[in-house]
Amino acid sequence: MTIFLPEKVRYIIDTIMEAGYEAYAVGGCIRDSLLGRQPDDWDITTSASPYQVKQLFPWTLDTGIRHGTVTVMLEKEGFEVTTYRIDGDYEDGRHPREVTFTASLLEDLKRRDFTVNAMAFNDRTGLVDAFGGIRDMQDGIIRCVGSPRERFSEDALRMMRAVRFSARLGYRIEEQTLHAMKALSHNLRLISAERIQAELTRLVVSPHPENLRIAFETGITAVILPEFDACMETAQNNPHHCCSVGEHILKSMQGIRPDKILRLAMLFHDIGKPAAQTVDENGIHHFQGHPALSEELARGILRRLKFDNYTISMVTKLVRYHDYNVLPEPKYVRRAIRKTGEDIFPLLFEIKKADLLAQSDYRRGEKEELLASVHAVYEQIRRENQCVSLKSLAVTGSDLIRSAGMEPGPALGRTLDGLLSMVIENPALNERETLLSIVREGGLN
Ligand code: ATP
Ligand code: MG
Repeated sequence: MTIFLPEKVRYIIDTIMEAGYEAYAVGGCIRDSLLGRQPDDWDITTSASPYQVKQLFPWTLDTGIRHGTVTVMLEKEGFEVTTYRIDGDYEDGRHPREVTFTASLLEDLKRRDFTVNAMAFNDRTGLVDAFGGIRDMQDGIIRCVGSPRERFSEDALRMMRAVRFSARLGYRIEEQTLHAMKALSHNLRLISAERIQAELTRLVVSPHPENLRIAFETGITAVILPEFDACMETAQNNPHHCCSVGEHILKSMQGIRPDKILRLAMLFHDIGKPAAQTVDENGIHHFQGHPALSEELARGILRRLKFDNYTISMVTKLVRYHDYNVLPEPKYVRRAIRKTGEDIFPLLFEIKKADLLAQSDYRRGEKEELLASVHAVYEQIRRENQCVSLKSLAVTGSDLIRSAGMEPGPALGRTLDGLLSMVIENPALNERETLLSIVREGGLN
């Protein structure tokens, strides 16, 4: 089994070996290379101490020197070189609280989470696969290195990593590993929101976001996302749907491209349904008002998981408007763009399509046609550069001050909004002189 190391990686490894130490490319880059994928980054593991590594290269950064990691800089490109180590407890996923350096590659590989992540390679020794990583890759299995119970007790986040790697690689999780996850998932309550957020995001943007189901089955979501458990437990007895709210959510995530904002929006679009559920006299379930409830819940969850404000704002807006319907006429579509926002509106087509595909076939053709005709109208509005926001209004606030005798202040803003409303109803009005004369003649009042 041979792996093609990039030139700079080979140079670093050779330099360390020529100085009499061992060095290997290790972890994710070996896994990805064996799968024929371009690794995101190449990590190097070595028997040399951080001090010794620093002496071998003219430009290094002490990125994680306490934990044995030095970044070697080659022409502005950085490579993490980490001394063989045995980890204590982890505090943030990358950095254990305390580490012990060791002279043995095997000891270093033993501390790694899964067999597929515990292989090393250099050109002299070839592949070092001490825990059956190749076999597990061939079988498509995520399996802990050593005893799963011990490994998950050391670092509970590894349980989410197991789900994440299964989702990314399309692998199943080995029985004992899965068993230990069920027994220990409650320990995830000890893990920081930041680490959970990072793993959840990676899972959600993976090729198999529906593997969130495994997180549900093992009790992980009960700790990190109990709102999702409620969805898995909420049936939807109505003609538009064929499965529980939770299963619909999983399907809808699969139906949208792997973008963080879009996948999170699908994850949360119906999260308020359990709270909104009512049953009519025929036993049919209704979920009136669920978008607003979903939006509220989503905001709370995203904050709890310490997502950034941009993500929170985009995702909650998409959730709020996911069920917003527009008639395929330019006037209505312009109003909808203004209401939802120019950045949000085009994304709603993708959201709605994914939502639709995850519903039952009931009136699907009709729903798809409507969406397509709204889209055609939207395209026309874009093509003709029709005004849908203050940005493209033919007058600005300072125009109104200079040429229509207005003063700065709240009335100015209201006037601009009023003009925009008129222009949205009738695009022909979007001419500088027309708008100025409307204001001069008090035509807005
Ligand atoms: P990605 O491509 O997503 O970066 P990766 O396998 O490189 O995947 P990283 O989180 O970058 O994952 O970690 C690099 C390597 O460090 C892993 O392959 C694994 O060997 C080890 N590792 C990372 N986090 C842990 C952990 N919490 N417990 C044990 N080993 C870990
Ligand atoms: Mg990595």
